[in-house]
Amino acid sequence: MKPDLRNLTRPELAAALAALGEKPSHSEAVFKAVHKRGAADLAALPGVVERVRKALVPAFSLSPRAAAERTQVSRDGTKKMLLRFSDGAPAECVVLPAKDRLAACLSSQSGCSCGCTFCATGALGLRRSLAPSEIVDQFEACLKEAGTLNSLVFMGMGEPFLNWENVKKAVLILSDSRGRHFPQAKMTLSTIGVIPVIEELTASDLKVRLAVSVVAADEEQRARLAPMEKVYPIKKVVAAVREYCRVRKALVMFEYILFCGVNDRPEDSALLARLIGDIPCRVNLIPYNPPGGPGGEFPRVKAFQLELIAAGVRTYLRQERGADIAAACGQLAAGK
Ligand code: SF4
Repeated sequence: MKPDLRNLTRPELAAALAALGEKPSHSEAVFKAVHKRGAADLAALPGVVERVRKALVPAFSLSPRAAAERTQVSRDGTKKMLLRFSDGAPAECVVLPAKDRLAACLSSQSGCSCGCTFCATGALGLRRSLAPSEIVDQFEACLKEAGTLNSLVFMGMGEPFLNWENVKKAVLILSDSRGRHFPQAKMTLSTIGVIPVIEELTASDLKVRLAVSVVAADEEQRARLAPMEKVYPIKKVVAAVREYCRVRKALVMFEYILFCGVNDRPEDSALLARLIGDIPCRVNLIPYNPPGGPGGEFPRVKAFQLELIAAGVRTYLRQERGADIAAACGQLAAGK
């Protein structure tokens, strides 16, 4: 099978053109035709000289963009789209309106192997990781629906850092000046805590922002909710994040899903503050949304927030969006 041209970053495209005996500089026109103008036919790439097109045709394929198979609209304006790729693998992406801003939440995998017990995607298991082009397809679907996008978050289906090479390529393709030119600084990658990739990000030139899902500050409790704790213990994850912030002089976002009566007690907020209190960060508190629909009562949310603030931790309560269409955090299940 010929490689899909849509999966190549521009430097990779330049190298491929050189290998075909063409000038690498043609990569600019080819990249623009594919990623900005959405060309669907390799033999008819607009703005690309005929010789280059003829050289590309026998060496590459050009997969068609996957469009939204289904779009659901929430009462609060959140839109969730289901995309299905050529082998039938599904992935969902979400457009989240907030005041005058629009964010897109993208999936990195079809399903997820991490098995977090509270997560609808985790219950599916992993079908497969998504190709860079399939991540870009979600961006295009969101952009078409929203008209404009101000930020991107990789918080949909899957663990982005377990599909890191493809997620990184998608970031590079989306931020390329010859393509959509979406600023890396407006992209947030969210992880359950895959330490080797946090370390790679620490040393990389990427400008993306990092978010880490704490789930629980207590190791035993965390292991029950997020089995990845056994692979990447939260204390080691936080140590890697501390180094990330020191080296990059960056702020990190910690996400903390509140489970009523489980991890929202005063001792939990105290433990969390001790764990991350010395790190330049903000904590987003997310009241738990059961996979079946909107969540219930959360009598401790405000108190938990105030306890963290009193301990010196910047803490926000995330306005949950799209729970009525199962588009909120932890609810994406591709229609299952
Ligand atoms: S919470 Fe994230 S890492 Fe955990 S199972 Fe769900 S998608 Fe995977």
